[in-house]
Amino acid sequence: MSAPGNGPGNGEAWLEERLRPSLAQKLRIDKQLYRDKTEHQDLIVFEHQLYGRVMALDGIVQTTEADEFVYHEMMTHVPILAHGAAKRVLIVGGGDGGMAEEALKHPLERLVQVEIDRTVVDIARAHLPSISGGAYDDPRMELLIADGARYVQETDERFDVVIVDSTDPVGPGEILFSREFYAGCKRCLTPGGIIVTQNGIPFFERYAVENTYRRLGMLFSDVSFFLAPVPAYIGGFMAFGWGTDNAALRRQPVELIAERFKVLGIKLRYYNPAIHQAAFAHPQFLVDILEALDRDAG
Ligand code: SAM
Repeated sequence: MSAPGNGPGNGEAWLEERLRPSLAQKLRIDKQLYRDKTEHQDLIVFEHQLYGRVMALDGIVQTTEADEFVYHEMMTHVPILAHGAAKRVLIVGGGDGGMAEEALKHPLERLVQVEIDRTVVDIARAHLPSISGGAYDDPRMELLIADGARYVQETDERFDVVIVDSTDPVGPGEILFSREFYAGCKRCLTPGGIIVTQNGIPFFERYAVENTYRRLGMLFSDVSFFLAPVPAYIGGFMAFGWGTDNAALRRQPVELIAERFKVLGIKLRYYNPAIHQAAFAHPQFLVDILEALDRDAG
């Protein structure tokens, strides 16, 4: 985080997001709304001319008012509409509440969200109300403040979809990319259930795709990724990990997805059935990465 006066103009404050050793992006802090160290992370919320209100944890942009719809719509509606009969959904992480808001647009019986940092929830509700909407007040929703990695190993509950809306694999979020955690998620899934994961930017983070593909591949018979461009997560499209034992679920005909979507009767800003289907199409460099992993796995 550069202090005031270190930006291009005088007296300007900037968030410098160090993405790679040789790459960073800077966002001018037009108005700081909150900044403190929580029990787990450094949390800042500020206003930005292009992104609206922005939340960052440990200097990494988590969500912005302007583009959160892409990420939250894709990580909820793709698995829930592909599943077709999801009633119980688990979100691990998701402190800003955007994932819960989108998931609750479906006729779910129960949504459990396990978020490690209470302050992230409190500050998101206070300063980013447009992202969480009324999610945290929805009677179907239960918010647990706990380590998601421990929850999935211990809970007796079972879920049709597990959404891992984690920070990046550093700090408290690192464990949410481990094989043990994914095994815990598998344990919590009903037969034919689906796990989806925040899986970084393949163009810069090939290792994230490789690791998830290998680790989920040890647990599920059908593993892949779906893609969407989230402007604040620079470097091209973002990958979302996909794991299930029902291989038909990611190959549903677009007409079936469209029928299910029509029943919902909602209008979104990024997701639609055509985008759902297209999101599973991979550029050749990603095809090549996954084919090489398949060959290595023999
Ligand atoms: N959209 C963001 C991204 O793509 O990086 C993620 C947003 S959300 C704010 C990430 C959440 O994961 C944070 O609220 C953080 O506190 C939470 N988190 C990190 N590690 C966790 C853990 N072990 N258990 C539960 N929640 C965790």
